[in-house]
Amino acid sequence: MSDEGVVLILGGTGEAFELAAMIDVSPGWRGVTSMAGRTRRPRLPEGEVISGGFGGPEGLERCLAERGARAMIDATHPFAAQISRNAVWACTKTGVPLLRLDRPPWPVRPGWRLVSDVGEAARFFRRREERVFLTIGKKDLGEFEIAGDSFFLIRTVDPVENFPPIKNHDFITGRGPFSVEGELQIIREYGITWLVTKNSGGEAGSGKLTAAEQAGVGVCVIERPKLPECESVETPAEALRWLCKL
Ligand code: NAP
Repeated sequence: MSDEGVVLILGGTGEAFELAAMIDVSPGWRGVTSMAGRTRRPRLPEGEVISGGFGGPEGLERCLAERGARAMIDATHPFAAQISRNAVWACTKTGVPLLRLDRPPWPVRPGWRLVSDVGEAARFFRRREERVFLTIGKKDLGEFEIAGDSFFLIRTVDPVENFPPIKNHDFITGRGPFSVEGELQIIREYGITWLVTKNSGGEAGSGKLTAAEQAGVGVCVIERPKLPECESVETPAEALRWLCKL
């Protein structure tokens, strides 16, 4: 039997993917990546992959125990707040060391309209008639039901199945990285006047910010949710170093 320690990686991001590849060639550790199972054809990382959720924080606690996990790295998206809270809860309960791999947010640029959550972004458009490029994923689209007469160009990774209750909209699909040129083309083709994005950070999604700036369209940025305190690093390489020191 292998005496490698199991590290549970909570995934769903490019960083989780990179980290799993690094751990796969590092002696001493065996990575198991957990994915939520929401996207149709996710990029599958190296090592073992499990999918579909744990059934709440207690389920995650059970998974750590059953697998004899010696560490957990939360490499989920900065807006995946529930699973990050569950990770802190389960690791506090079990004593399994936890690290959050948290890519830095994009620095605020002059002129950005900052909002605290998706609901506030939707309220901003309630009494306006804008042409909005909405790049927030599909989970919270329902919040834009109240957004009135604006047109929304909705970009998601997979096609949206449950039609959002938004009056004027169109869909496009796409998976990053997105180039500045490609984003500019979309902005021009659809006559976009505002971009709405979460402050996800990272290179792969930053092209739209530069494109919006170049095209002179407004930028509404949703700030990150507050998460419980946890030791954290910004890059997969730092996460690997943390693991190797355990
Ligand atoms: P969330 O609201 O934080 O989590 C909701 C539930 O989904 C969790 O309670 C958990 O179910 C399950 N879950 C989420 N991430 C999981 C993971 N890595 N492994 C196993 N179960 C997971 O999450 P979300 O915002 O819906 O995001 C879902 C996934 O998409 C995340 O893995 C995230 O990294 C990725 N993602 C999210 C965004 C975003 O904007 N939110 C953007 C890009 C990628 P149980 O309670 O049953 O365990």
